[in-house]
Amino acid sequence: NKFEQLGLNESLLKAINDLGFENPSEVQEKAIPLLLEKDTDIVALAQTGTGKTAAFGFPLIQKIDPDNKNTQALILSPTRELCLQITNEIKLYSKYIKGINTVAVYGGASITEQAREIKRGAQIIVATPGRMQDMINRGLVNISKIDFCILDEADEMLNMGFYDDIVNILSTSPDDKSTWLFSATMPQEVARIAKEFMRKPLEITV
Ligand code: AMP
Repeated sequence: NKFEQLGLNESLLKAINDLGFENPSEVQEKAIPLLLEKDTDIVALAQTGTGKTAAFGFPLIQKIDPDNKNTQALILSPTRELCLQITNEIKLYSKYIKGINTVAVYGGASITEQAREIKRGAQIIVATPGRMQDMINRGLVNISKIDFCILDEADEMLNMGFYDDIVNILSTSPDDKSTWLFSATMPQEVARIAKEFMRKPLEITV
């Protein structure tokens, strides 16, 4: 099993085994060792269906401190469907690690209920940019201590008009966090985000 050679811990390997993943995909092979070893920003050019959720999800889960109940990671994604899908995957990947809570935050559902879930302690928040910005404005969520920000399908989020929300969210989060950007294409707006908000990102292409 080639997953064992990527540096993942026993809990993750057990979950991967349950999922029936036999070998890492290309983006997983490239991203996982890099993200585990180095405290680096990355820009990964990868389409959906390449296994990118696990490419950022596995190393993220390994780096989260389950005993610390602060929000440690924010994953931004373009749609409610994608938010729920990522949340579901992260929950499956982290099922053997006690104390990691992942909460989905998206528009069109009760903001009070989402705020309540966060208040119980969510190390990982998976959010659409609009609802996330709304929750920050209302003081319902605190991202001042996040160590990781993942921008998933960055080109799609920008196509949907989330540029200002993304910039605001990144501006209110710590400068010393790691930012991992995934995008199928690299239009100018995505390059601008990478240039202004990331620290010499390493590039991965699949
Ligand atoms: P994604 O590109 O993250 O949307 O993943 C596409 C699908 O591939 C998801 O249903 C994953 O559960 C599945 N998947 C991810 N990594 C692997 C792998 N290494 N082997 C088999 N299936 C995988």
